Amino acid sequence: MIVGVQPLAGFDKLLHYRVPEALRAHLRPGQLVRIPIVNRQHLGLVLETDAVPDVPVEKLKSVSGILHDYPALTPDLLDLARWMHGYYAARMEAVLEAMIPAAVRDGARLKQEKYLAPARALTPDEHAALARKAPKQARLYDFLKQQFHPVKKSLVLSRLDTTAAVAAALVKNGLVREEARHVERVAYADGWSGGEVVAAQPPKLNEEQSAVVGSVSGSLAKGKFAVHLLHGVTGSGKTEVYLRAVEEVLAAGGSAIYLVPEVALTPQTVARLRGRFEAAGHQTVVWHSHLSEGERLDGWTALASGRARVVVGARSAVFAPVHNLRLIVVDEEHEPAYKQDETPRYHGRDVAVYRAKLAGAVCLLGSATPSLESVANVRAGKYHLNTLTKRVDDKQLPDIHVVDMRVEIMRTRGMVTLSRLLVDHMHRRFERKEQIILFINRRGYSSSMLCRKCGHVEECPHCSVAMTYHRADETLKCHLCGHQRGAPAVCPKCAAPDIRWRGLGTQRVEEAVRRVLPRARLERMDTDTMSKKHRFRQILSDFRAGKIDILIGTQMIGKGLDFPNVTLVGLVDADLSMHVPDFRANERTFQLLVQVAGRAGRGDRAGEVVVQTFTPQSGAIQFARHADFNGFADTELAMRKSFQYPPYRHLIHHLFRGPNPEKIKFYSEHWVKKVEAALGNAVEIRGPSAAPIEKVKDEYRYQVWYFTHRTQKVVTELVKLQSEFAWPEDVTQVLDVDPMSLV
Ligand code: ADP
Ligand code: ZN
Repeated sequence: MIVGVQPLAGFDKLLHYRVPEALRAHLRPGQLVRIPIVNRQHLGLVLETDAVPDVPVEKLKSVSGILHDYPALTPDLLDLARWMHGYYAARMEAVLEAMIPAAVRDGARLKQEKYLAPARALTPDEHAALARKAPKQARLYDFLKQQFHPVKKSLVLSRLDTTAAVAAALVKNGLVREEARHVERVAYADGWSGGEVVAAQPPKLNEEQSAVVGSVSGSLAKGKFAVHLLHGVTGSGKTEVYLRAVEEVLAAGGSAIYLVPEVALTPQTVARLRGRFEAAGHQTVVWHSHLSEGERLDGWTALASGRARVVVGARSAVFAPVHNLRLIVVDEEHEPAYKQDETPRYHGRDVAVYRAKLAGAVCLLGSATPSLESVANVRAGKYHLNTLTKRVDDKQLPDIHVVDMRVEIMRTRGMVTLSRLLVDHMHRRFERKEQIILFINRRGYSSSMLCRKCGHVEECPHCSVAMTYHRADETLKCHLCGHQRGAPAVCPKCAAPDIRWRGLGTQRVEEAVRRVLPRARLERMDTDTMSKKHRFRQILSDFRAGKIDILIGTQMIGKGLDFPNVTLVGLVDADLSMHVPDFRANERTFQLLVQVAGRAGRGDRAGEVVVQTFTPQSGAIQFARHADFNGFADTELAMRKSFQYPPYRHLIHHLFRGPNPEKIKFYSEHWVKKVEAALGNAVEIRGPSAAPIEKVKDEYRYQVWYFTHRTQKVVTELVKLQSEFAWPEDVTQVLDVDPMSLV
């Protein structure tokens, strides 16, 4: 037996090994193995088991050992790895490292404990004989017989005050079996759910929900690949639909993967799944990067062994090695957080769809603001569309008031943080003891310092961006590279004392709120305040428990969370997401508005939203205000079509960076000529041009865009050309296929 192994040792080449007799029966494709390379042992993953080597068999070395009993990659995951390697232009090793948790690759041994359970039933005569001859054995046997599960040996022995010899005698006579089991460390076993009360009893579905569940069931019953897009307004009960689909899959013996865009949302979802399925004996595994090594390894083992059949997690949970995959749920499918911003730069949603295809499973994408990519797939007839148009129990969608900040500024003749309308509503809600959330998508105090005399704006010395003022510690910070300096009292350029702080950040909003509502209990939530590990959970559960009146935060608090007592949501600066050089800016703004509005009025009281903007007439704001998703999608898709932007063509982004701007410009221009010659009209090339942020961390950046209908072919060609091109040492280049951010 010869196997082809991808080493995880820093290079991309398939190596061949012989398999010693003793390992043959156990070795399967997708398993992690130890292999000798030169004189050292390395880790590798078995890609093929009937490989034909390119050297004589006698010369091959042998596999030294197998890491786990279960393959790290199931057959569909092996195919998925090959696809990602090609489509995302990522090295195979990088793909495997993204797919297999480090804890599993490290092969850390699980802590094992011995467990005891009765091996067979005794006849009354046998039992009587045992009780007479060996009463201690009989007592132990009886105790085990009463348990539903195997019990930990050390525990029973001490509890019954008996010895290992007694247990050994029972094992020897075949009456009791002893097994080694892993001690499981279950993530979130403390039942933390942010204080949300989780009802185990499923609610009765409303008419719309029933129709959606019926449609998804239809696809599940067929047992074939299908994608459903569930477009449901915020609070319409999408989660309940996901739960019913998972339930159906479990009942049929299959497995389900449930993806959420943010680690922060996992506890809430896990609590809902456990509340629903634990009683029926189904373990829900949590899968994300913030778990301890032990938790990860145990969860992985439970899934790989087939013992657990539900997994919840962020992006990488799409790679869980579950058996008989029937369903992948992708909640908030429009979220850019699904895209990984390092190699392999994969999109969790797109990978989910592809894996479902390979596994012949159903992929259920859900959102209140579906991505235009998914909408286009529906319109092209590739995805089924399901809709939930009403909030559960006919709760009203919140009223959205748009405040024209140009008018506010004229009225007050100066900078305004909170408009009069927003302040009025805040007073009213606070007096009624209702809760308020204010969003401002920038941390710090203000976005830049401007000298009124000479016009100087202080920039980061390493990046071409303005530095943000943080009043809490009187510093200017660069949000790109972290560089900081003390806040100047006078202009660093002309020494005039006439400094003005422009733009809003969370700290400035906090200050303004303290001024208008000094009695309110207030918390600010952004990455500056969230450095402590459990602070995030703490604030969210305090807020849910009503110990906080007003929560101020970046979009980190805008996603998916459900707080019934929030009746007012303020979007302090809606323009932040709009004026960025990205063709998705409108889509992002629309999504932000609708999602943020979705946090209001989820309980018994109606909610309202105040949006502050300098461009109230813009389409994204007007369509969001009227909750007109289709109107927005029609307009935006027409725009995308006329420019042939995604979703009408795929976009590949190519970034060149390095310390010397002339050199980067030269090489990127030279490169583009090569691509033009090789690819001709398979691709439309734009650039090279300076990237929107020209310098980051002392490196200059140039970019090239490729537009194409034939992504796979173009990527393959680009990778081939890259390997033939003579790159200088100090030019780094990165290909990003289907990029989600262009700045
Ligand atoms: P979405 O994900 O669409 O924003 P959720 O799934 O969070 O909405 O549902 C909002 C609330 O409504 C939740 O508290 C949920 O338990 C509840 N809910 C969902 N479906 C029903 C139903 N059929 N009857 C009563 N309550 C429901
Ligand atoms: Zn910087």
